[in-house]
Amino acid sequence: MFITKDVWLNRMYGKSLGALKRLPACAACGIRALPSDASQYRKLGLKLLDIYKFSENEKMQLLEKPIEYQKVKSVYKRKKHGSEEWEYFHLYPELVELNDQADEEEECELCGPCWKDGVSDQKRPKYSIANGVDNGVLHRGLSDQQRRHFGS
Ligand SMILES: [Zn+2]
Repeated sequence: MFITKDVWLNRMYGKSLGALKRLPACAACGIRALPSDASQYRKLGLKLLDIYKFSENEKMQLLEKPIEYQKVKSVYKRKKHGSEEWEYFHLYPELVELNDQADEEEECELCGPCWKDGVSDQKRPKYSIANGVDNGVLHRGLSDQQRRHFGS
């Protein structure tokens, strides 16, 4: 599985702090926690994250945008299990991982507010990608040659 430099750095930082210390990042809003705040983060399978799933209308609107926009927009895409249909999620794709022990179900971490609003209260968190707060990630839009040049 291809990992980005950000994910690699996060993992290396986590390893340098020891197995019990890590630097979680919320897949819904992107906010990172200090190791002392890590207990507020929860790891969840995508099957519990329907609130972060694109509606058909949102999917159509995204696909109508120029490809350059689609490349930098934060979207996690997966093939629906047992189907050829694609599901789109308002999540940072760099922060979604496969869980080897749960039938390869994808999972991600959510910060306290994104868990409470999104999962517990079933509403899109105010400062989440699902609510339109997406800074995008520029290096997603770069060609391989541009990536090598900028070292990302
Ligand atoms: Zn969050």
